[in-house]
Amino acid sequence: MRLVIVGNGPGGVELARLLAGEFDVTVVEKENIPHYSKPMLSHYIAGFIPEEKLFPYSMNWYEKKGINLLLGTEAKLIDRSRKVLVTDKGEVPYDILVMATGARAREPVIPGGEHILTLRTLKDARLIRGRLEEEGEITILGGGFIALELAGNLSKAGYTVRLVHRRKTLLGLDGELSGIIKEKLEDVGVEFHLETGALGADEDGLKTDKGYIKGRLKVCAFGVVPNKELALRSGIHTGRGILVDDHFRTSARNVYAIGDCAELNGTIEGTAKGAVEQAKVLARILKGTDESYKPFRSAFFKFADFSVALIGRTKGKGEWLDESAKVFREGDKTVGAVVMGNIKKAFRLEKVIKGGLPVD
Ligand SMILES: Cc1cc2nc3c(=O)[nH]c(=O)nc-3n(C[C@H](O)[C@H](O)[C@H](O)COP(=O)(O)OP(=O)(O)OC[C@H]3O[C@@H](n4cnc5c(N)ncnc54)[C@H](O)[C@@H]3O)c2cc1C
Repeated sequence: MRLVIVGNGPGGVELARLLAGEFDVTVVEKENIPHYSKPMLSHYIAGFIPEEKLFPYSMNWYEKKGINLLLGTEAKLIDRSRKVLVTDKGEVPYDILVMATGARAREPVIPGGEHILTLRTLKDARLIRGRLEEEGEITILGGGFIALELAGNLSKAGYTVRLVHRRKTLLGLDGELSGIIKEKLEDVGVEFHLETGALGADEDGLKTDKGYIKGRLKVCAFGVVPNKELALRSGIHTGRGILVDDHFRTSARNVYAIGDCAELNGTIEGTAKGAVEQAKVLARILKGTDESYKPFRSAFFKFADFSVALIGRTKGKGEWLDESAKVFREGDKTVGAVVMGNIKKAFRLEKVIKGGLPVD
């Protein structure tokens, strides 16, 4: 069976790793480098790790696993009638095709947006790192996990960091939890401008509804856009992302989608942890297990040295279980938790909540 995977991010590479040997696996990737860790990019920009540490698998690893890796190759169209993937370098026949095309950074749509960089790829990270060395300071737009990881690491590394976010709270959390994260980041030197909307940018700074913020290096880290164009061009149903069911099936026969490009019941998971989990479930399905995917959002982050885990549903009125964990309930059932500064507890609670067990 020929399995063709488009995209060599965490979703694609995990699926290839799990199915190599059982399937004849080809990975088609438009970037010209093997898989690298996006969660580690802000550590690299901060100078905490050298570039080579971003690559968990060598080219030799792909070869040894028998994975045919086509780098620098962009998938253009799925010719479903002939079961062929058309790329800019030629055609690749498939029996099963999986789109793991991920997402790209959302571009700022304000006047002077060309003066603001974005962060998604190693190429972006190299550019930001070079500019940071020249400027010694950075303004980050956004209040999600990418913005907070970047702000925490760069501040810890000694750079001047300003974070501009149009909302009142961070990570979509309640005021109390958001306030704790803000304080921890302020302790390492991050300067916050919350409830501040960006109106425009020029070479020297950022115009906001609260005044002008000086700073030549500006990075936008607020949200992603799923890469669904391959599906669209191939006549496969899309919404915000590529529409899939709980077996990751798209509207086309033998064509699946996982990770940041896939939309299941209106939700796009949006984390490396989610993409890897989806790859694991799809690998089992493709091996013939009778299984379906039950989405359960959970993500673990480190902002500077402060760990934060978002488990399940974290909206609404929560209650503190102890000093590190706030839980969220629906009726008698605990449906989510935010755990701060205690990774072990986070893993424990994740298991308990996912399993629907009582939390006390
Ligand atoms: C700076 C940063 C920090 C992050 N930190 C965390 C974190 O701490 N924890 C966490 O869980 N997540 C984190 N994330 C999010 C995480 O990296 C993504 O959710 C994850 O990479 C999604 O994996 P994916 O395999 O779906 O897609 P991607 O990683 O986006 O990979 C998709 C791949 O497909 C390729 N591709 C796209 N279209 C085509 C085409 N037509 N032809 C060929 N190739 C194509 C792309 O080049 C890309 O390599 C972070 C992301 C960033 C940018």
